[in-house]
Amino acid sequence: MTPSHSDLLAESLSKLETSQKQVNGKTDPEGNSGTIGTPRIHEGYGFRPPSGVSTPLIASATAASESLVPDSNGLGWPAKSTYSRLTATPEEKAAREKKLTEAVRTILDCIGEDPNREGLLKTPERYAKAVLWMTKGYEDRLADVINDAVFAEDHDEMVLVRDIDISSLCEHHLVPFTGKIAIAYIPNKLVLGLSKLARIAETFSRRLQVQERLTKQVAIAIQEAIKPRGVAVVMEATHLCMTMRGVQKPGSITTTSCMLGCFRTQQKTREEFLTLIKR
Ligand SMILES: [Zn+2]
Repeated sequence: MTPSHSDLLAESLSKLETSQKQVNGKTDPEGNSGTIGTPRIHEGYGFRPPSGVSTPLIASATAASESLVPDSNGLGWPAKSTYSRLTATPEEKAAREKKLTEAVRTILDCIGEDPNREGLLKTPERYAKAVLWMTKGYEDRLADVINDAVFAEDHDEMVLVRDIDISSLCEHHLVPFTGKIAIAYIPNKLVLGLSKLARIAETFSRRLQVQERLTKQVAIAIQEAIKPRGVAVVMEATHLCMTMRGVQKPGSITTTSCMLGCFRTQQKTREEFLTLIKR
């Protein structure tokens, strides 16, 4: 069975904790002495190419990965059909869109509509295109998103970008959830181009998501890309599956957060971040 996203994320987080213990030079309380040693360095792996080298090409869907992001090709938690979508020929792309269009016609039929009436004639094709666009994050490689935007810089204060608009699709109901995300990190010799923080969030939000996972994936991706002292991500969103159907609680907001490194271990840093995002 394919491991679930949450299993993979849990694995990434535990790898991260281990590597941070190594970096801090602390002994591992679990006594996993085999994992203690030089800090893991995987420049060129995951999604950051070594300086001056272009992003590695996709070799295979099963390439082993040392990266925190369990995918050596830089896709970041790819799903079962991610590779076939990414590497599709124009013919395969057209076939995919046609299949999807037919499926939407089936939906229209099933809800009691007439797919052949004038107003709906082009709807299946339009929706097929729209849904492929809304999930275009499956075609984004983090390697390309981050690409040349990692810079050496002696800045060691918090970098915070907040109020990044996010819209994504809930994987349980395929309806949107929308909101804002705040991303902060404390650099450790490397900084990331500011616009890239939003681009990383955008990449993961244009996939089927649950808000908790989206928050974690953004945090781990940044941790992996520039190895900062810590990363904090907070997301607030309204879920249409809650407000339009089911419990119908309009205006309810779901908040999720992921704190890594010094944001997790140092209360002062965490509080500074939480104060800054509330302004
Ligand atoms: Zn939902």
